[in-house]
Parts: sequence; structure tokens; C-alpha cells
Amino acid sequence: MYRGIHTPLVTKELWDNVQAIRTQRYARKPRRAKRDFAFGRMIRCGHCGCALVGELKKAKYTYYHCTYYRAKCPEPFVREEVLEEKFTEILGRLRFDGEVLDWVKQALREGHVDEQRFREESITRLRNEYDKLQKRIDAMYVDKLDGKVGARFFEQKSAEWREEQSEILRAIQKHQEANQSYMEEGIALLELAGLAVELFEKQPAGEKRRLLDFVLSNCTWANGELTPEFRQPFDMIALEATACPKEKVAGTSFGDLCQARLPR
Ligand SMILES: [Zn+2]
Repeated sequence: MYRGIHTPLVTKELWDNVQAIRTQRYARKPRRAKRDFAFGRMIRCGHCGCALVGELKKAKYTYYHCTYYRAKCPEPFVREEVLEEKFTEILGRLRFDGEVLDWVKQALREGHVDEQRFREESITRLRNEYDKLQKRIDAMYVDKLDGKVGARFFEQKSAEWREEQSEILRAIQKHQEANQSYMEEGIALLELAGLAVELFEKQPAGEKRRLLDFVLSNCTWANGELTPEFRQPFDMIALEATACPKEKVAGTSFGDLCQARLPR
């Protein structure tokens, strides 16, 4: 690739917008298909490691089964209702009393502080780059007025720098957007997870999936049993809740233990 000097047919903005729409279109199609089934591709087959996919039978019963990509698999089809029951049971292992909820919120906030700092630093760095480019453009404009640089060279160079500037602005915008929703969504989902068992059944499929994705990472299905992997920090809550009787979970020692294991 090399930089031409002809007038662009379309603006850089328009080009970028069109590219963004195109990639979205390509990206959306497979995602939509996956979302049709609440648990599609979120569970791996415990025998062969393939993804479990949903399939509609007789236009009303949803079954899940191994994709059988690798070999013949012994795991039979399973009804969606059965998986739903298993997930309900798994979410029931998360016991949120007030203390635990506060602790998890704190963990989320602390994680967010780090992320926010990173984003703010990035934004500052980008703003400095933007200003530096602006100074260059201004200085070269003066040179052009003084006849030190030719008009054509000025046009070419300043166009190049302005393009860099608009890329920087887009990067800044991305950082700002990412900063906003993270916490509110996290807390809302967390409160939802605290009431997980009660709410899970009432949620529409899409919300169920969001809740599960927030709490669980990998799930495997084999011999009619669902084995979940909880995401941090839910792994500890689930672990403590099953390992200890409830009184112990609510005690101060649990809080101390969690503090000690918090990522810093
Ligand atoms: Zn399988």
C-alpha cells in the first residue's frame, strides 16, 4: 500500500462507516442463529468436547445434543426443560446474604477502578497525540504562508495528520463508551444473580442466557449431569456455600477469606 495524491472518491468517515456496517452484518448472522436457543453453544459435551446445539422437534420441543463433530457420541438428546432445571439447581448454590453481596460488589468496584484508570490514562495519551498533530498542522500552515513549504505539500501532509486526528478521536470515543455501562450492568446482574433461582424461571430466554453467561463460564454435559464452572467471584461463593453450612458462610471468617483472595 502507498499513499496516492488523487482526490478521494469518498470521505474517510463514509468509508469507515460502510466498513463498520459490513463487518456488523457478517458478524450478526451467526450470532442471531445461536440466540434462537437459550443454551445453544454454552455447554460442551463431556464425552467429546463438542458444543451442545439446540434443535427444534415437532415445531415445539427444544432438544440439545452434541454436534458429533469428532466421533459417534454416546450422549443422548436432552430436553431444554431438563437443562433449565439443572441450571436452576446450580444457581441455587449461590447464596447471597447481605454480607456476601456487599463483598462481591466491592470486588466488582475494585476491578472497575483498575479498568477506569487504564482508560483514563489511554484517553490522556491520545489527547496529547491529538494536540501534537494540531500544533504540527498550525506550524506548517505558517510555513506555507511564509512560502517555506509548497501548497501541495501542505495539503498532502495536513490531510495525513487530520486523518490521524480523526482516528484518535474515534479511539477516545471507544474508551469513553466502554467506561459507562460496565458497572451498572454488573451490579444489576449481580442483584439478579442473588435472586437467581427465583428470577431465572421468569426471565425470557435472552435474559436467562445473559445471567448464566455472567455467572458461569464453562459447562459440560455428560451422562445426564451438568457440571458448571463458576466465574470469579461466584466460584468462591458457590464453593463456600457447598463446603460450609450456611451459618459459617455468613460469619466474618468468610469475609476475611474472600478479602485475602481478592485480586489486587
Ligand atoms: Zn459428544
